[in-house]
Amino acid sequence: MSALDWTHDPALRSWVESANAAGSDFPIQNLPLGVFRSRTARPTIGVAIGDQILDLRACIEARDLHGPEACRGETLNALMALPAGERRALRLAIAALLRADARRLEWLVPQSAVEMDVPARIGDYTDFYASVHHATRVGRRLRPESPLFPNYKWLPVAYHGRASSIVVSGTPVRRPSGQTHADGAPAPLFGPSRRLDYEAEIGFFLGPGGPLGASIPVGSADAHIVGACLVNDWSARDLQKWEYQPLGPFLAKSFATTISPWVVTMEALLPFRAPLSPRGPDDPAPLPYLAGAPDGGLGITVEVYLETPAMRDRGMPPVRVSTASFLDMYWTPAQMVTHHASNGCNLRPGDLLASGTVSGPAEESAGCLLERASAGEEPIALPSGERRAFLEDGDTVVMRAFCAREGFTRIGFGECRGSVVGP
Ligand code: MN
Repeated sequence: MSALDWTHDPALRSWVESANAAGSDFPIQNLPLGVFRSRTARPTIGVAIGDQILDLRACIEARDLHGPEACRGETLNALMALPAGERRALRLAIAALLRADARRLEWLVPQSAVEMDVPARIGDYTDFYASVHHATRVGRRLRPESPLFPNYKWLPVAYHGRASSIVVSGTPVRRPSGQTHADGAPAPLFGPSRRLDYEAEIGFFLGPGGPLGASIPVGSADAHIVGACLVNDWSARDLQKWEYQPLGPFLAKSFATTISPWVVTMEALLPFRAPLSPRGPDDPAPLPYLAGAPDGGLGITVEVYLETPAMRDRGMPPVRVSTASFLDMYWTPAQMVTHHASNGCNLRPGDLLASGTVSGPAEESAGCLLERASAGEEPIALPSGERRAFLEDGDTVVMRAFCAREGFTRIGFGECRGSVVGP
């Protein structure tokens, strides 16, 4: 991993004033990458700075930025394919354009004036299950005696998700229909899901990757991660319960996955690297191929907010229903990458690996309603007087994330937002 440099200096300011406001998700220390469309409708790569976007294609064409050519693309895939050193050089060049003592550029677009795209052409999407707290709470409902399967503490469990139904924040999500089976019923029924849930996760976009047959050593896996975003792995729990054995989730998950539009780069996350919470004293040490760097975790706080139609009607803001730390995960992003490639499976630029629901040990840190409302047994109380066990039509789920550490500037991920529409 590269070292901290002047772009991480908390004293650094930008000539874009809104980037200097306390609490901005996008100070000059962040510089996340995304793809936006303005009235010209051609997708364009940009960098979020305060409440603005720096148009990288315009910067290149005006020769204010000298390469890489991949900045002129309509997705981030070619940028993601660059070696980590070239991605870091781009960060340095962009920070030099935006720092307070630099010449003001006219290549800014207000974030409020554009629509954001899914930032990369996602070839493959894999969803892990890396929170031991989530896996234990969910497993306890199904197998109280032994909630975790014997493999859990030896390998990062995952399933292959559906890339085609990944949508960007703000896209409405239609309640899925499918087969559900009531305990003891003679036959399943087909109809709209009645147990629609969210899962708050962190997604990692992959960089260079490797060819078929090559593995990725855990010590160099971070160089293959470009950056992170928020992921809402919408889940129909009633469909999932009936279909998941023996091959895992399928239609309960593939109807939609929402991601936040900005890719917070691994360089921006560098000050927030830290060891994951210690494993239990009786837990096995990872096998040598997964024995990673001790600071492979990321200090990301993940929050979930809920807003019902009644709250909206009364002008009430979304209410926070959970807050969790990524440091409570059991596996690091590098371990997920290395395990994924350990059988020779090729990983490609633009692939998305999601962490699995980010949940901590406390009830308030549970990143999905299945845990948070105890599978419907203890609905959560909302300020409107309503209660929620699962999502209802018209509900809006907003996920936010940020990194904060003494001596560094707070950076944020922006929003991952989705509203449920009826079947
Ligand atoms: Mn998930």
